[in-house]
Amino acid sequence: MSRFAYVNSGFLPHRDACVHIEDRGFQFGDAVYEVWGVRDGHLLDEQGHFDRLYRSLDQLDILFERSQYSLLVTIHELLRRNRIRNGLVYLQISRGVAPRDHAFPQANIAPTVVLTAKRFNFDAAAQRAEHGIRVITQDDERWGRCDIKSVNLLPNVLAKQAAREEGAYEAWLVDGSGLVTEGSSTTAWIVSRDGELITRPLDNHILPGITRKTVIAIAKSMSIPLVERAFSPEEAHSSREAFITSASSFVMPVVQIDDKIIANGTPGSLSLSLRNEYLRAQ
Ligand code: PMP
Repeated sequence: MSRFAYVNSGFLPHRDACVHIEDRGFQFGDAVYEVWGVRDGHLLDEQGHFDRLYRSLDQLDILFERSQYSLLVTIHELLRRNRIRNGLVYLQISRGVAPRDHAFPQANIAPTVVLTAKRFNFDAAAQRAEHGIRVITQDDERWGRCDIKSVNLLPNVLAKQAAREEGAYEAWLVDGSGLVTEGSSTTAWIVSRDGELITRPLDNHILPGITRKTVIAIAKSMSIPLVERAFSPEEAHSSREAFITSASSFVMPVVQIDDKIIANGTPGSLSLSLRNEYLRAQ
């Protein structure tokens, strides 16, 4: 079956879809993006991802006039054309096309909009969750505005690659003070010996995860104590549980960090119940 993508204002066969060589996303990483999980045809955490998208655009002064509703209609049409009911939607919006110059173009240019959709094997992810994943730690070498979901992902790419080369699923990034910021594409969490759920507070050093926000709401509704503070890899090594969250992995238990096995090496009960609640709530 052919696969379709959407570029600017039209649907194209995926293999023919492309952007201009002077697109500022391509040349400078001057672009933002979002990823939605899709289950049974519904966008997971739909509004949260739209809110973050418009905030990222605003923070970078990318003038984007299309409404959320118009984007949503296009996303559903893309899912329909690709016959996807369970998968992932990727949306990227760059500042647009202009002769190469670091500063913003003088003339008002139209942002470039790209949408793709793909099937995602949620059953394989569920199996992974049953066993838990391994993460490694890496230095956080990113810039100071990680709260903006921009496509400047080179440090994240290198960290994820280092993880893959060590047979791990994710890399947790560690800042200059020896504290975990987040995963290369996920939010990092631990459960303390006292049963407190711990994740780093939001600031410029981490992306405000939409799954994070939903999991915090679920934890509150389950009366699970939550503390937003940074933690070190050493504290994580001796924690009761650890897990990651993201739009594509939901809540994914972590059973090993570097060469340290967490607790008894099997997914923690709180991680698994948060995963179940997250899926049930959607
Ligand atoms: N941190 C980073 C660096 C990410 O790339 C992602 C995934 N977009 C996340 C955290 C998790 O965010 P979300 O729950 O919104 O997918």
